[in-house]
Amino acid sequence: MPKGRAGAKAFLRSAGDFFWPPRWLISGARGMGRGPLSPEDFARLRFISDPLCERCGVPLDYRTGDETWCVVCLARPPRWDQARAALIYDETSRRPVLDLKRAGRRDGLETLCGWMRQAGGALIDDAEVLVPVPLHYTRLVVRGFNQSGWLAQAIGAETGRKVLVDGLVRTRRTPSQAGLAGRARRRNVSGAFRVRKSRLAAITGKRVLLVDDVLTTGATLSACTRALKQAGARHVDVLVLARVVRETDVTI
Ligand SMILES: [Zn+2]
Repeated sequence: MPKGRAGAKAFLRSAGDFFWPPRWLISGARGMGRGPLSPEDFARLRFISDPLCERCGVPLDYRTGDETWCVVCLARPPRWDQARAALIYDETSRRPVLDLKRAGRRDGLETLCGWMRQAGGALIDDAEVLVPVPLHYTRLVVRGFNQSGWLAQAIGAETGRKVLVDGLVRTRRTPSQAGLAGRARRRNVSGAFRVRKSRLAAITGKRVLLVDDVLTTGATLSACTRALKQAGARHVDVLVLARVVRETDVTI
């Protein structure tokens, strides 16, 4: 883009922000400060940091050795190789997640992806291709966008990693996972994904990083991993913005 046009755009944006300040990502209040978060909002976010489960990224109370798996991963190792999340999904992080998913709010994308890059930097470095969890095409038509695709594209743009927005296809329209328990969720999405035929060559033998907004039970990400591995992906990691943490996950 020519410099003059970019400069004009930046000027219009700052003038617009002056007359109609953007809403902060968490509280929703209109703020005049720099950045999309108030200091109070930022302080309420619960970022995930060490010690955490090497395999699924859930925070642990303490580290017991070089390689630490949580009890859930020990009992039932996930299909993916490693998963990382930037935030614990709670009342605070819920707001930007839902704004992105339901309202298509994009102005916080850079900030959200910055947090994801911090949490999953090593996974991004190792990945040859980024693939978002897809929506069924009927849902995509109604909504007009896929928030996971936006996250993957934003991370790809910042890191230079290749992004295959249409690498995976959701072959059937699954009912919402909300309100379903673990086993029902797994059944709900079982076999609902496949790698697009035209993308097979770009995925076979590759290290893939699956990108999604929220990890709840991991059923959807597990079904996507299965499809990618069946298509010959050499390695599949998972990176999400936020993940649900249950009491049972953190006991070791
Ligand atoms: Zn784990």
